[in-house]
Parts: sequence; C-alpha cells; structure tokens
Amino acid sequence: MLELKTPREIDAMRTTGAFIAGLLDDLAQRAAPGVNLLDLEHRARDLIAERGAVSCYWDYAPSFGSGPFRNVICLSVNDAVLHGLPHDYVLQDGDVLSMDIAVSIDGWVADSARTVVVGTERPEDHRLIESTERALAAGIAAAQPGNRLGDISAAIGAVAAEYGYPVNTQFGGHGLGRTMHEDPHVSNTGRAGRGLVLRPGLTLALEPWWTPTTDEIVFDPDGWTIRSADGSRTAHSEHTVAITDDGPQVLTAPADR
Ligand code: MG
Ligand code: MG
Repeated sequence: MLELKTPREIDAMRTTGAFIAGLLDDLAQRAAPGVNLLDLEHRARDLIAERGAVSCYWDYAPSFGSGPFRNVICLSVNDAVLHGLPHDYVLQDGDVLSMDIAVSIDGWVADSARTVVVGTERPEDHRLIESTERALAAGIAAAQPGNRLGDISAAIGAVAAEYGYPVNTQFGGHGLGRTMHEDPHVSNTGRAGRGLVLRPGLTLALEPWWTPTTDEIVFDPDGWTIRSADGSRTAHSEHTVAITDDGPQVLTAPADR
C-alpha cells in the first residue's frame, strides 16, 4: 500500500531523519583503525536509547535472514555491501565501511546509509563512494512532483553507467513512513518516463549501491551479510526523501551540509 504523507507527517519524519544524520556523523567520527564494529553497534544503541527512538532493525525477520536481526545498525566492510551483521571485527586502516540505519521516533521512520573510508583512503575507493553519492544526488534531483518513478531509477543508473559499474536489481530503494519498507520499490536502474507518477506526499528511501566489477552478490551463512561475488569493494549511499509541491526534500541531510 502506498500512503501519501501530510506536510506535518513529513516534518515528523524530518525529526527522525535529523537524529539519524547526527548518529551517522557520530559513528563516522568514531570509525577509526583499531575500533571494533561492536563498539559502533553499542554506541548506536546508546544514542537510540537516549533519544527514546525505536530501532527498525531489532527483531526484523525478513525471508532472507536467518532468524531475527539483533542489532540496530548494519555495518558492511569492504566486499560486504548490504545488511552487514555487526560482529567482532577490528577496523583496519583503509577499510571501506558502509553504515545503514533506520529508526522511528513518535511512530515515524527515516532510513539512511553512508559509506566512509577508515583511515587512509585509496583513490579507487574514493571514486566508488563518490559514484554512489553522485547517483543518490541524481536520484533526488529526479524526485520531482509530476515525474515518474522510472525517472529516479534512470537517473541513478545513468551515474553507475558513467562510472562503468554494473547494477544489481535484487535490492533497491523503497517507500517508508510508518514502517521501514513500504511501496513502491525503487530500482537502481530503469527507464525514464515509466512507472508511478510522483505525487507530493510520497516519501522514498533512495539507496544506490553497487560493486565496481560484478552485479552478482553472495550471502554469508548468517543469511544477512551480502557481499560482492568477486570480493570487490562496495559502496552504498541512502537518504530518505519527501516529494513536495516545492520539489524533493532530503529528510536525513546532515545539519552542516
Ligand atoms: Mg537503509
Ligand atoms: Mg533503505
């Protein structure tokens, strides 16, 4: 079901989004060589508890996971790209870390992901992260009232094509609001001018992710962590966006940008 939100409801989602942006800022600053992923998970838990927010991940049990998720954030390192299960791993210099989190505050959800390099950045990793950030910006720019869903997908996919990166279509963006995953699905590639007409009040999580040399993914035995099939490094960028009469509004934007 697809629910259009009122301006007031969008404001409520923006409150949640601002909290998530601050949380990701906090974790990005902490993500240094020598830091354990479990320290980041526990920091996120503390911030969520302090704010009185509710994790959308805790006890999440979709068809692909093995049992309910018992963490509040997905932390995906290097070849891991989505749904990375926080585990006992100490970050190394040069690691590529994707952090993805969704919470609700007063019943309204926001969802955002960010990829950072821990310590020293390699040029190829910079390019990879830049590509998903640029694709996200292009998808947001296409999220205009009156446009179609395919315009967003095409804009995201065009950036991947520009970099020469293939796009896997098994996972993509989605509607959200009262819950983390609502209709519609937003593919990271598609044809402009096709699909649902974007109306004010539609709220979407746009989330380009890809791996530079393959469009195939593999699941860890835990059923959660998804990796590039060829071990190549990966990136993922996500914002929650509202379509309004005045154009797209990013609800999870960091305060300083
Ligand atoms: Mg997410
Ligand atoms: Mg999402």
